[in-house]
Amino acid sequence: MKVHVGTDIQPFSSGYHSEQDCMEALIAMKWPNDFICPRCAHTRCSRLTSRRIPLFECGKCAHQTSALVGTIFERTHLPLVKWFQALELFLLPDGISAMQLSEVIQVTYKTAWHVLQRIRHAVGEFDALELLCGDVKVNSDLYACNPSRYELSHPHASAVVAGCTVTEADEPEHVKIRLVPQQRGDGTRVNRSDLAAFIRKHVDLDTSSVQSFPLAYRLYQPLRKVVREAWTSLKRTYIAVGLKHLQAYLNEYTGRRQLRLPGAEATMWQKLLRMCMAIPAISYRCLIACQSNQPLAAVA
Ligand SMILES: [Zn+2]
Repeated sequence: MKVHVGTDIQPFSSGYHSEQDCMEALIAMKWPNDFICPRCAHTRCSRLTSRRIPLFECGKCAHQTSALVGTIFERTHLPLVKWFQALELFLLPDGISAMQLSEVIQVTYKTAWHVLQRIRHAVGEFDALELLCGDVKVNSDLYACNPSRYELSHPHASAVVAGCTVTEADEPEHVKIRLVPQQRGDGTRVNRSDLAAFIRKHVDLDTSSVQSFPLAYRLYQPLRKVVREAWTSLKRTYIAVGLKHLQAYLNEYTGRRQLRLPGAEATMWQKLLRMCMAIPAISYRCLIACQSNQPLAAVA
C-alpha cells in the first residue's frame, strides 16, 4: 500500500490485492455455506460473470442478486481493493482522517470522507443492535479535555452519557458514548432523564443490573477514563470534529475499541467486514442531512 510520506501510517495487509480476491471474500462472507436466494430461500443458482460484479440467478425464481446487495458496498463505483484498504486503515489504533485516506488510496477528499462515514455508519448501526447486558455502569460526563465540574462552560465541552458493561476485574468492556443535545460549550449538563433515556435505549433491562452515576463529581472512574481516551484519540487524528457528526466519530472510537477486545474467534478485520456486510449503505445525501445530535429522549 502506498503511504503518504511524512505520516506514520503503518497499515497491516489483509492480503486482498485484486478485485477478484475482494469479491470472493465478500461472496464467502455473504453465503458462507450455500447461496440462499433472498426472495425464495432456494439454494441453487447460476453464477453470471459477464458483468463487473458477479450476479447470482436463483434456479427457482430467477431472481438475480449479488454479494453487495444490502451492504455498504452496494452501488459503489470505487474499486473494492480501495474499500478494503480503507477498512484496514480504519482499524489503525486512532483511525485515519479523510485527508490522509485520500492521499493513501488516491481518491478525492469527498470520496474518502464518504467511505469513512459509510464505515462509521455501519459500525454505529451494528453496535446499536447490541444492548449492554450484565453488570452495567452509566455515567453523566463531558467529552472534552480533562473537564471538571467547574468547566461546564468549556468552549469545546460536549455533554455525553457513557455506559459500559464491566468485567470481573472491574474494567469497562462494551462501551457506548452518546451525545446529549446541546450547543457546544453552552454549559449543558446531563440530567437524570437523559440517563434514564440512555438506559431504556441501550441496556437490556431483563438481564442487567444497572448502576448510574448522575453526579459529575461521583462517577465510575474507569468509564470516565475511556471517555477521556476517546477525546485524546479523536483529537490526535481529526484535530477538531464538528458537533453535527461527533456522534459518528464517537461510535467509531467505541466500535474500534470493541473490535479490539480479546475473546472472539474472528479477527478485527473479519468482524469489521461482517458489520459492513450486515448494514445497508447510506447515501451521501443522507449522510450530509443526517442529524446525529438528536435528543436521547426522542430516539429512545
Ligand atoms: Zn429464488
